[in-house]
Amino acid sequence: MSNMVFCRGCGKEIHNSATACPNCGAKQNLPGQGKRRISAALLALFLGGLGVHKFYLGRTGQGILYLLFCWTFIPSLIAFVEFIIYLCSSDENFARKYG
Ligand SMILES: [Zn+2]
Repeated sequence: MSNMVFCRGCGKEIHNSATACPNCGAKQNLPGQGKRRISAALLALFLGGLGVHKFYLGRTGQGILYLLFCWTFIPSLIAFVEFIIYLCSSDENFARKYG
């Protein structure tokens, strides 16, 4: 069963998409979301003006808009704000918004 994980609270096998264990109610971490959030934040900081973080998050349409307007430097400003937003959101919120 590849899509089963073990609960961090009670050790019972649960589905990996479960946000909380049905057995003991312990909250489960979303694997990889923390890393994904930090990667997106760093991409927004360094390459945000080109929309690279948008492509990374699968928002290709928005990424293309960033590319089209990169000469105005407005995407760079927005990307810097997004860098701060990504850094400040919890992994859970990030997953809900950009998952
Ligand atoms: Zn449990």
